[in-house]
Amino acid sequence: MIIQLEKNIKESDLERIKSECIKLGLKPTTVNTASSQYLVSVVKNEIDIRLIGSLSGVTDVHRVSDDYKLVSRKWKVGYTTIELNKNSRIGDGSFCLMAGPCSIESESQIRTVLKHLKENGISVMRGGVFKPRTSPYSFQGLGLEGLKLWHKLAADNGVSIISEVMAIDQIEKMYPHIDIYQVGARNAQNFPLLHELGKVDKPVLIKRGMSGTIDDLLHAAEYVFSSGNEKLILCERGIRTFERAYRNTLDLNAVPILKDKSHLPVVVDPSHGIGIRKHVPRMALAAVASGCDGLLLEIHPEPEKAFSDGQQTLNFEEASRLYADIKQLLKFFGVECEMVEGSSASGS
Ligand code: PEP
Ligand code: MN
Repeated sequence: MIIQLEKNIKESDLERIKSECIKLGLKPTTVNTASSQYLVSVVKNEIDIRLIGSLSGVTDVHRVSDDYKLVSRKWKVGYTTIELNKNSRIGDGSFCLMAGPCSIESESQIRTVLKHLKENGISVMRGGVFKPRTSPYSFQGLGLEGLKLWHKLAADNGVSIISEVMAIDQIEKMYPHIDIYQVGARNAQNFPLLHELGKVDKPVLIKRGMSGTIDDLLHAAEYVFSSGNEKLILCERGIRTFERAYRNTLDLNAVPILKDKSHLPVVVDPSHGIGIRKHVPRMALAAVASGCDGLLLEIHPEPEKAFSDGQQTLNFEEASRLYADIKQLLKFFGVECEMVEGSSASGS
């Protein structure tokens, strides 16, 4: 059950509502987000919601039968829209492209990618500075110094950046230099990290875990939301199955199911999803057709020389061809896209 509270509810009203909940056998959790305040509780027995709904300070009461509550579609009729920058929104029915290298490598690589993005009207750049590598001997990323440089160059070009946060102590250090936090597949059930990300006021994209179910992903989002941050994006990036012919099994079934179960925007990462460069464009188009709100794509000026994931990374020519195909497909579905206008991101 979700109890929506008045914006500036009196402390005495809040205490009264909580004690009434407890009398009814509920264990309410207080959730404060930037825009609202809620009490959330799992309801085991049938209760008359009017007993709560009539109390002073309550604006609405919703029964939500799912185990996850705040991210469920069962209480929020509209979709959640998140403003990513002045050119880009996600979740409002338009389409959002985020592209960039697997790893941020150098100033010249950042500049080259930014130029390509601007030429193609894309205003969100992806890239890793803290890399979760299977081997400790592989490139681990440029770290905070790389992030600072990248963020400055991107901001100068009116481009927002999304990058993975791997540990709690990185959240605060990254904060002034990041626009969207990414939680990687390996951290999709790192509950302390998810909890801390609930305390920031910037969007968080959560990737589905390697062996995570749809329910696991929704619960991961519930952790962040219930800790105070409702600016959440869900990401399907492929799961590990018995199939070894490709890196991961991109589960596009997840898209309509997630859209059905949750009001949060859903993006697809076809690069990690199949892990084979020549097949990424087709899977990206399949993802568009599946009804997602956006794509997270790995691109690089010279994928053969990329420090990580070059085998699944598109070069600029391949990427530009794909953008053109995406535009065609979006036109077919009647979906608006920032790139469709051919508008390049603002800035110098
Ligand atoms: C990445 O986006 O480069 C990455 C490491 O993703 P994932 O967590 O999906 O493996
Ligand atoms: Mn990668």
